[in-house]
Order: sequence, then C-alpha cells, then structure tokens
Amino acid sequence: MIYNVAQLLKEGVGASRRRTISGDLRDIDALNPGVTHVEGELLFVRTPKGILVTGNAQMNIQQICRRCLEPMATEVEFEIEEEFIPSIDIDTGATLPITDEDEPELIIDEHHMLDMSEVLRQYVIVAGTSPGLCRSDCEGLCPICGKNLNLEPCGCQRDVIDPRLSALAQLLDQPDQE
Ligand SMILES: [Zn+2]
Ligand SMILES: [Zn+2]
Repeated sequence: MIYNVAQLLKEGVGASRRRTISGDLRDIDALNPGVTHVEGELLFVRTPKGILVTGNAQMNIQQICRRCLEPMATEVEFEIEEEFIPSIDIDTGATLPITDEDEPELIIDEHHMLDMSEVLRQYVIVAGTSPGLCRSDCEGLCPICGKNLNLEPCGCQRDVIDPRLSALAQLLDQPDQE
C-alpha cells in the first residue's frame, strides 16, 4: 500500500489520480495478529501543501462483542481523509522542513513514496473501539455469575426487579382507567 506520487507532485494544484487499495496490514492488535487483508478506493489530489487522500476501505477483523465479550468476525468500513506532505521539494530536491506538528505517518518519503499502511491501521483501531454485537439477540453475560448466556442458562434469579423500579412497574401494571 505504497504509492509513488512523484508525477502527481510535479503537476499543478488540483491534479488527481484514482488508486485502489489491495494489500495486507500486519499485526493490527492482539485480536488481529498476522495478516489482515484490506480493499478500498482512493483519490489523490495535489494541494498547495502536498497530497489530499480521500476514499474508503473495508476489511474483516476480529472484535469483541460488546455484550458477551466473545471474539467475533466483523466487516469494518471507513472513510479516509488525510493530507500527506512531502519531505523533499520535487522540483529542487531540497529537504523540506518537518515540524513536530506533522504526523510522521503523513510524510511522503525522500523517494516520493506515500505509504497508506500506518494511516489504515489507525483507522481500523478507531473503528474497533465501538464494536457491535455478535448477533442481534446476543444474550450477554449474567450480571450475577458472569456466565455467557448464549452458551447455557445459569439459573441465577435475574428477574428480581430493582426496588427503585418497582414503583414504576406498579404504575404500569394498573389497568386503564375509563
Ligand atoms: Zn455477543
Ligand atoms: Zn448467572
């Protein structure tokens, strides 16, 4: 997922290229060791400062169900928008100043190579912080004994109504008054 952008950097502001993403990310996190394949579409646009990259990407990753905490396979999809800046002036070959505010993963290297992999990894990690459910009717964990209720019922008395809610339950139980 490394793109040579030398030609695009030489062109005027507004010049653009379409590029596809088809590659592998390595060792995203503890749940996703090894190789994770990623696919997507990108648009590179020359800006006064560098190259704006927009587009989208999809991949299948392992996440933890937020209700039962079991690992599950999920397809994540996200929109990308990042501006990369060159480290070398394409016309003069001079080194360009990089400040502390410049994110290292958004710097185009001295060979005019733009590397998407670290950016994609960060998007996946952000997407992974709001996991869904392993299935829409996931039973979750018993709040008393901690058992995964998708596997087997546990026999705990969980239908005891919280005393703070019992007044409300009584109200709701009252027949309609006509
Ligand atoms: Zn679940
Ligand atoms: Zn239980």
